[in-house]
Amino acid sequence: MYVISTKAMLQKAQREGYAVPAFNIHNLETLQVVVETAAELRSPLIVAGTPGTFSYAGSRNIVAIAGALASQFNQPLAIHLDHHEKTTDIETKVLAGVRSVMIDGSHLPFEENVALVKSVVDYCHRYDVSVEAELGRLGGQEDDLVVEGKDALYTNPQQAREFVERTGIDSLAVAIGTAHGLYTAEPKLDFERLTEIRSIVEVPLVLHGASGLPTHDIRQAISRGVCKVNVATELKIAFSDALKAYFLAHPDASDPRHYMVPAKAAMKEVLKKVIADCGCEGKL
Ligand SMILES: [Zn+2]
Repeated sequence: MYVISTKAMLQKAQREGYAVPAFNIHNLETLQVVVETAAELRSPLIVAGTPGTFSYAGSRNIVAIAGALASQFNQPLAIHLDHHEKTTDIETKVLAGVRSVMIDGSHLPFEENVALVKSVVDYCHRYDVSVEAELGRLGGQEDDLVVEGKDALYTNPQQAREFVERTGIDSLAVAIGTAHGLYTAEPKLDFERLTEIRSIVEVPLVLHGASGLPTHDIRQAISRGVCKVNVATELKIAFSDALKAYFLAHPDASDPRHYMVPAKAAMKEVLKKVIADCGCEGKL
């Protein structure tokens, strides 16, 4: 079994005080470099995709390629549904072989969020699929979901405890001041809130919006209980910037076996930095 759920890997991270990175992938090349880098550093790995990514690349294609790479590199990994909102969509992908799910009802009123998440947990746990849910809102953009920074609401600790108990989720994404996309100003994270949540919530905590977050903020969040760190935007920028630079230098280039090489190398540098920040090298 190379494609696994995140339950055991996040519980181990929580016990041992590090975080597992969730890297958003989009195609063959990004999957290749993510699995190769994690295998080289013996790091636990979550490969994540939004609904848009899965419909772009094809769910069964992602599962097949990630599974083949996991086997080739002897690297167990989780394929994770990032920010999914529709139960039928989740069920289809679970049947295609995905074993880790985020159901995002964070835009709903509390009771509706609980009901939606509980129904997904009831379904997923029958298949040994781990479930992450979110309480509170992040700033920025994820796929088509746009949240105005000023309207983003932080996670309420007491409500978080009730949410976890009533839904039975395996991990909780918290809103403590991070945002999706890149930061236009230095983020100020509410670490006291994180510590308070950690003290009364037992499941592993997840930090979204880690692209461009300073190392000291990531480390501080991990020391206060975060054990999954999501990175998407920073990887896309490194990959596409290197691709653009290659075509500027080689305007006649047409062979993907050449022009994809520097893009993957640039993405690899970001992956190595995040794995170092997460403290998860050698933790596979
Ligand atoms: Zn997110």
